Amino acid sequence: MSQVTLPSSARVVVIGGGVIGSSVAYHLAHLGWRDVVLLERDRVTSGTTWHAAGLMVTFGSTSETSTEMRKYTRDLYARLEAETGQATGLRQCGFIEVASDPDRLVEYRRVSAFNRHCGIDVQEISPAEVKRLFPLARVDDVLAGFYVKDDGRVDPVDVTMALAKGARMQGATVLEGVAVTDVLQKHGAVTGVRTTHGDIACEFVVNCAGMWARQLAARSGVAVPLQSAEHYYLITEAIAGVDRAWPVLEDPGCYGYYREEGGGLMVGLFEAACAPWKLDGVPDDFSFGEIPPDWDRMMPYLEKALSRVPEAGEAGVKKFFCGPESFTPDLRPCVGEAPELKNYFVAAGLNSIGILTGGGVGRVLAHWITTGRPDVDVTGMHVDRLHPYQANAAYRRTRTVESLGMVYQCHYPFRSMKTARGAKRSPLHERLAARGAYFKDVSGWEGADWYAPDGRPPEGDALTWGRPPWFEHWRAEHEATREGVIVMDMSFMSKFRVEGRDAGRLLERLSANRVSAEHGVITYTQWLNEGGTLEADLTVTCLDDQRFFVVATDTAHRHVETLMRRAFEGAHAFVSDVTSAYAQINVQGPKSRALLQSLTTTDLSNTAFPYRAAREIEVGFARVLCVRITYLGELGYELYVPAEQATHVYDLIAEAGAAHGLRHAGLKALASLRMEKGYRDYGHDIDNTDTPYEAGLGFAVALDKPGGFVGRDAALAQKAKGTPTRRLLQVLVKDPEPLMFHAEVVRRDGREVGYVRAASYGFTLGGAVGLAMIDAGNEALDQAWVDRGVWEVDIAGVRYPAAASIRPMYDPGMARIKS
Ligand SMILES: Cc1cc2nc3c(=O)[nH]c(=O)nc-3n(C[C@H](O)[C@H](O)[C@H](O)COP(=O)(O)OP(=O)(O)OC[C@H]3O[C@@H](n4cnc5c(N)ncnc54)[C@H](O)[C@@H]3O)c2cc1C
Repeated sequence: MSQVTLPSSARVVVIGGGVIGSSVAYHLAHLGWRDVVLLERDRVTSGTTWHAAGLMVTFGSTSETSTEMRKYTRDLYARLEAETGQATGLRQCGFIEVASDPDRLVEYRRVSAFNRHCGIDVQEISPAEVKRLFPLARVDDVLAGFYVKDDGRVDPVDVTMALAKGARMQGATVLEGVAVTDVLQKHGAVTGVRTTHGDIACEFVVNCAGMWARQLAARSGVAVPLQSAEHYYLITEAIAGVDRAWPVLEDPGCYGYYREEGGGLMVGLFEAACAPWKLDGVPDDFSFGEIPPDWDRMMPYLEKALSRVPEAGEAGVKKFFCGPESFTPDLRPCVGEAPELKNYFVAAGLNSIGILTGGGVGRVLAHWITTGRPDVDVTGMHVDRLHPYQANAAYRRTRTVESLGMVYQCHYPFRSMKTARGAKRSPLHERLAARGAYFKDVSGWEGADWYAPDGRPPEGDALTWGRPPWFEHWRAEHEATREGVIVMDMSFMSKFRVEGRDAGRLLERLSANRVSAEHGVITYTQWLNEGGTLEADLTVTCLDDQRFFVVATDTAHRHVETLMRRAFEGAHAFVSDVTSAYAQINVQGPKSRALLQSLTTTDLSNTAFPYRAAREIEVGFARVLCVRITYLGELGYELYVPAEQATHVYDLIAEAGAAHGLRHAGLKALASLRMEKGYRDYGHDIDNTDTPYEAGLGFAVALDKPGGFVGRDAALAQKAKGTPTRRLLQVLVKDPEPLMFHAEVVRRDGREVGYVRAASYGFTLGGAVGLAMIDAGNEALDQAWVDRGVWEVDIAGVRYPAAASIRPMYDPGMARIKS
């Protein structure tokens, strides 16, 4: 054991000296938190970082957070050498993504418009231009290239050394040869770490242990569902004419990327079906390690990749390298505070982009730790979006086969992961399947997405950017909701019972709206943080003064639960996760009252059972919590049915529904209906960076309620500033043909003012409709400002005239809901 002297305490201990841990320590120290100790089991970079290919690419994501992290990373790497004296090997030789089929062309046109909006200089170039820039590329089948001249490559080891050196220069301590064996905790919070060289007391821990992060976290009861997998590149012998100045070339259609290496080419691979590595855990002594390559498995992919640069196929192979990298169930990283343990932060599971996002991940996490809140949208990468079962070996074995390959698949809008399915099923699953449901993965649940009519089997995923074959089924479900009555299973919603003498008081404290004033009433509310931005978007139903029912979207399950558990500590308020105890069956549409009334003796008339009423009603042999509320914009009811009686109640609804023209509707209809009504969806069109006023949710903020609420001071200050200059608007494309999905750039008077965060097709409004966060610069963003503008949306490079509105375009007066 080497002689290392450990400090007895530190404010933060960062575990792992890869690019991520080094970046976190660097940024913490730069933010003035110098009492930081980074502990590396072996030597800095010895895990995955040392063998990365070093692509530094800003192009390719439609996530604003990921794109900003990439840009920040590139800028940081460009200035690190001047700051630290340590070279990073950054070479901004350019990057080209080629599209060789029409669907990828559409995808990259969409992506490049969004990336340009985010400040990345992407140019669409001709095949001839691709050839000029990368003369070895075969371009006969290339439709276009997408070129970013400032992207390129770095040396991952040098970058990491520079970050570690920069951290030291700011006062952080970096110790090699010290492995963390355990994280110490008391009363649900971190108190220190145990290492091979003794203990260090600390306030915060950041688990940056790369592919070891899952097994290390498990020792503390924290789930970090990532899995290491084989990851390959081939290096050829020298090839005449190859020039270091050439850009990096990427062709996902051929599974490959290509760059100069030692006078030859590096050909990197993302195979469609990949191989998880060491399901039982990565050995503690795996350092600067390699995996023997599986030539047989990889040969078809390699051949395809080499077909893009045939001369590489003819050159000798210097090395076929395989090393492990961590992959997550949804290809997004695991970042943030673990819900299981206070002050236990994670930054791991980088899905092969740890170098090119490493600077940004470190910056975001350091900001988060030092201020208590992230300053970017983290809904897509927060470790609490994932669930412990996803760390099961069986789940990892199954899902990881698909996840790596997804990096290079065409990212069709309606695509759902195919592996590790069936993990969670609604009690109604078989019934809905028999009705022709097509299921998609909804946070691990099988969610009925749409229904094939007339007993036909569903057609399956539609891998298209255009109208899917089931477009007309979707329309029929949408129209049935607007005109008749539908039944929709939403059992995947997160449901909590909250009980106790302090339950009402503490839920009021969390909620920006008034939630405990009236018994038997549901209230839509946001939960804010002290900075006055959105932590959660949910409903609270007050059953009586000590019993509440809290319902949030599937993706916010653990976040909402953690917020409650932490807020209720030491109080007489108790949370039970009853998600699986109740099915949620929606009966919605103008004829929903008539249908439901035929099944219950409770008077459902508008006066006896008004909008927002919540009562236990009898349906057949069941007692059902019936809530008159809608997420679809019509008269409707949500039924919370004990799971064991769900099929019974469903059968009664289906049987009685025949007389009312009942139709089954799926989640596609939910998307189109809610979008027309402008209903928000946390994590899709609103997130943790938005204030309620920017999100258009000021109506749900009860600034004057007794006792106040978390974030009230900030909300008051926001309100005092007057009309916001940034706001979520509903945007409708006037041409009924094109579709919007996400990330389409919105223009006002020709100028880019924002992008669509989420979209659907509005069958009632007659075109693609979305919610876009719009920035009005210094001007007040009110309806007059909206009306003065000429609006357009850029869809795959074509500008379409659009209408924009603050108020929902569908039923702004809520007449239908309250009828
Ligand atoms: C073949 C290949 C090519 C790649 N190409 C690129 C690319 O071109 N661009 C890109 O952006 N990304 C690329 N990547 C991905 C990139 O390498 C990773 O995302 C990144 O290196 C992950 O960094 P990390 O810090 O999370 O993990 P690591 O580098 O593995 O660091 C984790 C560290 O934690 C240490 N550790 C573990 N347990 C403990 C413990 N208990 N106590 C103390 N220390 C501990 C380990 O020793 C290790 O050094 C590639 C990966 C592979 C495999």
